[in-house]
Amino acid sequence: MSSGVGVVWFRRDLRLADNPAWARATSDHERVAAVFVLDEVPLAGAGPRRVGLLVSHLRALHEDLVAAGGGLHLLRGRPAEEIPGFAAAVGASALHLNADVGAYARRRDDSVRRALDTVRFVSHWGNHVHPPGTVAASSTGRVHRVFGPFHRAWRSTAPEPWPEPGGAELLAPLDAPAWPSATLGADHPGTAMEPPGGGERAAHRRLARWMDHVDDYPSARDRPDLPEGTSHLSGDLRFGTLAARHVLEVVGDATEGREAFTRQLAWRDWYAHLVAADPGFLSEPMDPRMDHVEWLDDEEGLEAWKRGMTGYPLVDAGMRELAATGWMHNRVRMVTASFLVKDLLVDWRAGEAHFRRELLDYEPSQNVGNWQWVAGTGPDAAPYFRVLNPTTQARRFDPRGGYIRHWVPELAELSDKGIHEPATVGPLELAAAGVTLGADYPEPIVEHGFARGRAIEAYERARGRG
Ligand SMILES: Cc1cc2nc3c(=O)[nH]c(=O)nc-3n(C[C@H](O)[C@H](O)[C@H](O)COP(=O)(O)OP(=O)(O)OC[C@H]3O[C@@H](n4cnc5c(N)ncnc54)[C@H](O)[C@@H]3O)c2cc1C
Repeated sequence: MSSGVGVVWFRRDLRLADNPAWARATSDHERVAAVFVLDEVPLAGAGPRRVGLLVSHLRALHEDLVAAGGGLHLLRGRPAEEIPGFAAAVGASALHLNADVGAYARRRDDSVRRALDTVRFVSHWGNHVHPPGTVAASSTGRVHRVFGPFHRAWRSTAPEPWPEPGGAELLAPLDAPAWPSATLGADHPGTAMEPPGGGERAAHRRLARWMDHVDDYPSARDRPDLPEGTSHLSGDLRFGTLAARHVLEVVGDATEGREAFTRQLAWRDWYAHLVAADPGFLSEPMDPRMDHVEWLDDEEGLEAWKRGMTGYPLVDAGMRELAATGWMHNRVRMVTASFLVKDLLVDWRAGEAHFRRELLDYEPSQNVGNWQWVAGTGPDAAPYFRVLNPTTQARRFDPRGGYIRHWVPELAELSDKGIHEPATVGPLELAAAGVTLGADYPEPIVEHGFARGRAIEAYERARGRG
């Protein structure tokens, strides 16, 4: 056991169970202090809803720490100043944390490490099933550029042993944490919301509920109209109220449904591996030929997309779900992203930035990885000539229009057929449903067939130049 005090700096791992940094600190030190820094730099882009969720997780973490005899020390400011100052004040010999792959996170952690002086900086990996660098590389020595082989290697990777928590005495803060308002640092208009169910115990209950549905995952996962079709655990994985490895252990792969579900955790690890190996991936197309796509500067189209007013009901339903809840179904994320990039030919980075602000589960590697996948600019990307047809996708994955009816209520009275393509509905049905196109609901802002051809040409020109 190391003598003295260990500090655990919580960030995207807001739990005590299955947390390597916490376990190692509580077994290596006699006394342990838990700290979180409210850092306005990442919070500025978050939006009040994500800040509200963070605060509700922090409150729950504090309560769990109080129950264990300690409490959360809540600091506010720049980590490179706050963390070394706190470590010195409590006489710490080591700082423990779980590493993160985002560009800002890495710069921040480097600056803290440099500022620590004599305090040991002990980095763990706690937020992935297999942390970056641990899944065997391809024959070129790089992270697999194709998901299939990565997944096979991922499945045969043995998990690294995690330390067992120890019985260190916990240090309690002198004052109760001064919880910030959800608008802290946020430059985002909108309503602050503190969602219920913060903390790891609530997350474990969500995982337990998901076990009643996971076996239906293969048939239900692409259906946005089925509320239990996917797990909705992405926010818990993002804030670390659940360890990905724990989710894998609980779910296992005994059935087709469980296997299909845990495969998604491998996608999450894959994008983290790619970003850890090449941080440039966060802002530049992984396929350099795609640097030459001539994107359109279509401000009006981008705004219509953000507001859910494109005239394509599935796209609009998704964008309104995102605006209202901070979450969007994966299939619909693909359709909305494809619409922006391929139908409107707007640079994927504009869509990525919008999702970054809005999503409760926003993670740099996951968001960029998926946007690049849809845009056809990333590794193992959807081929550039694959342009999702938003109407066919709606018919296939929201067959009765239940999802669209919920999020685009002005179309709710249209028939199951008409709701997917209001522009083709006859005047009598429109009148009976109380819809005037162009007034209650927009005409399509672009014609899909034309847009598809335009996108393929733009991509082909870029490939020719690259
Ligand atoms: C354009 C776009 C942007 C996205 N941005 C994010 C993001 O910022 N953060 C994020 O967590 N996910 C992102 N995703 C992936 C995916 O849409 C969400 O993880 C999923 O919808 C979350 O819902 P769920 O928890 O019910 O998923 P489930 O289907 O239940 O999947 C279980 C878990 O697997 C992981 N997962 C599922 N699909 C993917 C995927 N395609 N890529 C990586 N991990 C996946 C998630 O952690 C998810 O919680 C994005 C997808 C697209 C197409």
